[in-house]
Amino acid sequence: MISTEAGIDIKRTEHSRLPETDMQHLKFGRVFTDHMFVMDYTGGSWHRPQIVPYTDLELSPATLVLHYAQTIFEGMKAYRTASGGVTLFRPDANIARMNRSADRMCMPEIPAEAFMDGLKELIRLDAAWTPDGADAALYIRPFMFASDEYIGVKPSEGYRFMIFVCPVRGYYQEPLRVYLEMKYSRAFPGGTGEVKCGGNYAGGLYPTKLRQDQGYHQQIWTDAMEHKYIEESGTMNVFFIIDGVLTTPSLDGTILPGITRDSILTLAREKGMKVAERKVGVEEVVRGLRDGAVSAAFGAGTAATIAPIKVIGYDGEDFTLPDLGPDSEVNQLGKMLDDIRRGRTKDNHGWVVHVV
Ligand SMILES: *Cc1c(COP(=O)(O)O)cnc(C)c1O
Repeated sequence: MISTEAGIDIKRTEHSRLPETDMQHLKFGRVFTDHMFVMDYTGGSWHRPQIVPYTDLELSPATLVLHYAQTIFEGMKAYRTASGGVTLFRPDANIARMNRSADRMCMPEIPAEAFMDGLKELIRLDAAWTPDGADAALYIRPFMFASDEYIGVKPSEGYRFMIFVCPVRGYYQEPLRVYLEMKYSRAFPGGTGEVKCGGNYAGGLYPTKLRQDQGYHQQIWTDAMEHKYIEESGTMNVFFIIDGVLTTPSLDGTILPGITRDSILTLAREKGMKVAERKVGVEEVVRGLRDGAVSAAFGAGTAATIAPIKVIGYDGEDFTLPDLGPDSEVNQLGKMLDDIRRGRTKDNHGWVVHVV
């Protein structure tokens, strides 16, 4: 056991699994690197940050999170750069969002410095796991859960914060088929749609399964009150090009404020594209799909970056969007983002943090 400057106890694995891992064929979210970060919250403060070999947890069946879903998470990536280094993309934004999620779920905030130190140290230790290749990266999963052994609906007193890491390649292999959801909802005003808490996702599984049985990948969620306005696509933010304007629903409390979304908006504005953040009507989009005003649609999130949408189903009808050429504005935005993350162009925004 060695202690770093940041006060992290590190116990290295004695047997790296890297040599026996097929890094060319990685199933998303199923392969884990050698180490994980752990820090516990008890008695009103965070204690003893550690990095230890990746392993199972031992939990009481009464652990609060298993019953009432007091848990939050983040999703971020580390990228292999052109010169062989490893970078994080806007980790400060993930840390800030995780702490907003913590507030909403009555959980303690994680000191940004302790989070960043643990994250960097973990990525440094497992940097050799960073795959090379166009869509390849380390997918990083920080999360926190209520750890009290107690059955009762109240905020836990103890929490565990952990980070583990998955080497990944592409997320979606083909352009998406999505359906405009008019019955079920992901989020509602006053709810938790704008934070990354576990409960937001379990409720979406059933309606998504119904759509998948009909041949769609996921749905475009609409507002819970009237199903008149578009919110997100699956677990991604959604963008349309409507009459040449890059358009995305404005953040209204039910939409998760994606860091990819924000980065795309920033780059598009700088590039001189017309950009709109506003309410996007279901009727408006369906009309635009019919008359050609909607020329492109895509999902945006860390896992997929940009996931082109090929088909949008609505009320029993399928609308097919034209293929996006490599020089399309959408693919240019994706490339700009990737070039910044992989150090191929200058990072004018202070978005990139070099770890190795
Ligand atoms: C994480 C997430 C996103 C995308 O956020 P990024 O920061 O871009 O990864 C969008 N919608 C939902 C529901 C999410 O959970």
